[in-house]
Amino acid sequence: MIIAVDGPAASGKGTIAKALGRHYGLPVLDTGLLYRAVGLAVLKASGDPDHEADALAACDFDDAMLDDPALRSEAVGSLASRVSIHQSVRQALVKRQRDFATQPGGAILDGRDIATVIAPDADAKIFVTASVHVRAQRRYQDALDHGGHPDMDSLIADIQARDTRDMSRDHAPLRVADGADLLDTSNLTIDAAVQQAIALVDAQLERRRQA
Ligand code: C5P
Repeated sequence: MIIAVDGPAASGKGTIAKALGRHYGLPVLDTGLLYRAVGLAVLKASGDPDHEADALAACDFDDAMLDDPALRSEAVGSLASRVSIHQSVRQALVKRQRDFATQPGGAILDGRDIATVIAPDADAKIFVTASVHVRAQRRYQDALDHGGHPDMDSLIADIQARDTRDMSRDHAPLRVADGADLLDTSNLTIDAAVQQAIALVDAQLERRRQA
């Protein structure tokens, strides 16, 4: 069984994907980390993330980089969003994601194009979203919890810039896939959002069984 969880930055999709993984006993791949690793590798090589050849060269990053805490920063998220517009970069990361998705026993992947490109035949598809303000507030709290000094206005601006880039790019833009259920987490606790996600997945699986 494959479950696709897509959505914009800080929508809660990562938390929901991990909780679904525990609930259904499936491994989870945060595909954003792959794009973040490419972004960080470009930075370390002093390359230009907007230059396709530089970004493509960074796709053979060392796997150890996937554990680098620097990947989680807002700055690397923004670099990831810049390298991810290049089609050759997306193509270079497809096999890894499809191999994970089709492993025996099934898998959950979260990202931007899982239900549209990577696994369009997924058994269940959820699109997680939340208002820009709520998403910025989550990033703000997260930064405070990690000893940072966040600035709300710049967090809002970063999220808006990332949304615009992710939704308007030519290749695999962020959008709600056919057959996906929308889950707006703006006014939900984590527990409530997870319960709704499980209910949506169960309902989609049941519909497939009956079809
Ligand atoms: O999900 P996360 O915020 O870690 O993703 C970082 C960036 O990587 C996104 O803004 C997006 O541009 C890109 N990405 C993508 N396709 C995915 C996952 C992430 O283009 N499947």
